[in-house]
Amino acid sequence: MILRSSEVMVADYTSELAKSVAPDVLERFTRYVRVDTRARFDRERSPSTPGQLDLSRILVDELKGLGLSDAELDEHGYVYATLAATVPDAPVIGLIAHVDTSPEAPGAGVEPIVHREYDGGVIDLPRGGTRLDPAAMPELAGKVGHTIVTSSGDTLLGADDKAGVAAIVAAVAYLSAHPELPRPTLRIAFTPDEEIGHGATLFDIPKFGARCAYTIDGGAIGGLQAESFTAVEVKLVVEGVAVHPGYATGKLVSAVRLAGQVVAELPSDRLTPDTTSGREGFIHVVSFTGTPDRAELRVIVRDFEEDLLDAHVALLRETAERVVGAAPRASLQFELTRQYHNMRDYLASDPDVLEAVLEAVKAEGIEPLVAPIRGGTDGSRLSEMGLPTPNVFDGGYEYHSVREWASVQEMAAAAAVIVRLAEVWSRR
Ligand SMILES: [Zn+2]
Repeated sequence: MILRSSEVMVADYTSELAKSVAPDVLERFTRYVRVDTRARFDRERSPSTPGQLDLSRILVDELKGLGLSDAELDEHGYVYATLAATVPDAPVIGLIAHVDTSPEAPGAGVEPIVHREYDGGVIDLPRGGTRLDPAAMPELAGKVGHTIVTSSGDTLLGADDKAGVAAIVAAVAYLSAHPELPRPTLRIAFTPDEEIGHGATLFDIPKFGARCAYTIDGGAIGGLQAESFTAVEVKLVVEGVAVHPGYATGKLVSAVRLAGQVVAELPSDRLTPDTTSGREGFIHVVSFTGTPDRAELRVIVRDFEEDLLDAHVALLRETAERVVGAAPRASLQFELTRQYHNMRDYLASDPDVLEAVLEAVKAEGIEPLVAPIRGGTDGSRLSEMGLPTPNVFDGGYEYHSVREWASVQEMAAAAAVIVRLAEVWSRR
């Protein structure tokens, strides 16, 4: 019985390499997730929260301990370090993960729980009544025999993106201990504030000095993303005419009512996040604040195609202008901010970047799943800024929620893919 169960465990790893790095990945991961690195919207400095620096300092110390003597934390909260090549002529390759966690779920006091040899049943977590039900989570249902890590139920886990951080550090530790393995110069970066859209903002691409890079940030085993949304945010401000309601007859023009009407007249059976999938874009109202005097809507608009994105923005503008225009004494401001651009347009002209990681994933015995990411990563903006950066899976699921979980077997597979990616680039 014991023998059989240990055979199952061996079989669940993608390779001997993944199996050998798994204890290190798990040990690092369960330590990193305990550090509260929750980012904050409306940041006043980089990073937005001091907890991110706590983890970044730990990472600098660990990288130095692994022999990466130039490891440093810069004034904006970015960690940079170099693992020297064993094949000096090979191109310099970057590996990137983010230390912050999402502001959308509680991130303080994370107490990870390790569920060994998952039996395929419901996982009830001790706090918050949180329940992971494989009937509602098909991806979890497929992980029988895996070691699953969850939070205690009242916080997120932080696999986004500490699974990526742990996979990178474990891969660096492995490579550092195996100088006989071929590898190019590897540049490592850990970024702050990815979750609030600023992971790339103060990234020093010239100093990083890599030919291309890979974010290890999210998703199921084998997942590779070389395509992201193109993204804009629209701020709509409606100004009304406020009057004491007792004396308002024929005078009051309520901004909050008009803004509500704008939201109500946007499509609800299409072009929303919950009615779209695959390559379809959407218009998504993410905040609504207001008084009769002034109301503000923040709306994110997403698509993979520029012309469709422009059409969604035009629909939003027409709807707002029509509704507010019908109230002659109200006024409308429409302010558009470009957030990030589909990385496909930058990666298509440099096919080696994706081909190398496809080769590494296959070498690990994994079937690659190349799919567009319905969001953005640090790589979306880094690619636009001149550093081609596709995204690689890290074995974490149900991000930004108290149900977040990760598979140790898949995090270890991500670390093994990094080791193989180094070998692939050493030959190019
Ligand atoms: Zn992430």
